[in-house]
Amino acid sequence: MSVDTAAEHRLLASVPTQLLIGSDWVDGSAGGTFTVKDPSTGDDLLTIADATPEDGIRALDAAVDAADAWAATPSRTRSNILRKAFDLVQERAEDFALLMTLEMGKPLAEARGEVAYGSEFLRWFSEEAVRISGRYQANPEGTGRSIVTQHPVGPCFFITPWNFPLAMATRKIAPALAAGCTVVVKPAELTPLTTLLLGQVFREAGLPDGVLNIITTTSSKAVSSPILDDPRLRKLSFTGSTPVGVSLMQQAAKNVLRTSMELGGNAPFLVFEDADMDKAVEGALLAKFRNIGEACTAANRFLVHESVAEDFTARITAAVKEFRIGRGTEDGVRIGPLINESAVTKAKELVDDAVRRGATLETGGSAVDGPGTFYEPTVVSGVVAGSDILRNEIFGPVVSITTFRDEDEAVALANDTEYGLVSYAFTQNLARGQRLIERLKTGMMGLNVGVISNASAPFGGVKQSGIGREGGLEGIHEYLDTKYTMTPNPFA
Ligand code: ADP
Repeated sequence: MSVDTAAEHRLLASVPTQLLIGSDWVDGSAGGTFTVKDPSTGDDLLTIADATPEDGIRALDAAVDAADAWAATPSRTRSNILRKAFDLVQERAEDFALLMTLEMGKPLAEARGEVAYGSEFLRWFSEEAVRISGRYQANPEGTGRSIVTQHPVGPCFFITPWNFPLAMATRKIAPALAAGCTVVVKPAELTPLTTLLLGQVFREAGLPDGVLNIITTTSSKAVSSPILDDPRLRKLSFTGSTPVGVSLMQQAAKNVLRTSMELGGNAPFLVFEDADMDKAVEGALLAKFRNIGEACTAANRFLVHESVAEDFTARITAAVKEFRIGRGTEDGVRIGPLINESAVTKAKELVDDAVRRGATLETGGSAVDGPGTFYEPTVVSGVVAGSDILRNEIFGPVVSITTFRDEDEAVALANDTEYGLVSYAFTQNLARGQRLIERLKTGMMGLNVGVISNASAPFGGVKQSGIGREGGLEGIHEYLDTKYTMTPNPFA
């Protein structure tokens, strides 16, 4: 079902346009604003407050002021608020989905999927909040007893990306609130509206003032720097590109901040000769084209055994030729716009370079005339070593196929990257699957599946893909400090 423009206007009129600082929605202190645009048309969506560095510090002040009371709030109360927020997002699921489609461009069906996935972090961590625990341990010498306890790390600062506007926010906010931490969040300037709507939901859910503060800004660096330099801040969690992550880690080192980093990926997708080819093709289409390819988990390099490469390429190409391009609100659209013009240029340059070096263009390969920033779903096969597309995160709807001769070569190619976020492998050979778990140097793996994200699983990478885990049993520990208290042997 397509969405009518009256529904879009009604929704946009309900989205907060100011900063959430402490108890109030407020304008930026310099009165500045900026306009969020629809990448499928280039049209203006909404004009919102543009925070200054002073606003950032005021938001941190609010988070600091609220920290002790929130940390002392019973975990059942924190849990209930998170659960209530989950229920409210469910009630407004269509609003959240449409808003993400409008500001980010993803097809509405996928935006609904993100509402389900993103809201689940609220429910999952509402359930984890009440399970924070410690231990009591006699030391081996028998001379003492240690009591191990967990404590909220304190005020947190979150910088989130534009590609999953709801999930990237909830994946950080939910465990932090569950752990008893207060938060300042700075969403990406390209897609800040979903976070603002989430802020409204948290207020309706009864979250105390100052526990969650939201600053939207076009001056990311200028606003973030003073917050990171402030010794009252205790934790930074960032999702975005590796270069920005590295520079934030350098800055965070000054105050020895705890950091969680979800950075770039260059996911290999391995198809072995013993794969179930129907499932491999289905998994490949999901791993590549979900979110228009704009995901750090997107399959970036298809590595296919030489005996099945022709069949795999033909099937993928046939499927891709059927994909409908268009605005995400239109029926049947699979490929929405890329986020902006530079994303289109990047995809185009990577494909052009691959073809120049000898790859075959099976389909696509061109930007689509505006309005909107669209790039055709594209397949290139026979991509040769040294092509830029094998080194760079494509972040677009481009399948790049290379062949391998045997498992050793496949593993060597897969691991030949500084990234280590996720790998995918399709094989029906159990022992091979087990070997790959040990051989592929990534924090996550999809074995015979094309989508791996789930709130119950610990998302995160190794190597230059990041530090820390979000979701799962691990997620809440990013927001807890471990302390032990040594006590004497009470019988001595
Ligand atoms: P992407 O390539 O996905 O846009 P970025 O790393 O550029 O990834 O952006 C991710 C988030 O980091 C966004 O919220 C953006 O505003 C923010 N950001 C980018 N550069 C900086 C910086 N120097 N300091 C603080 N935040 C930044």
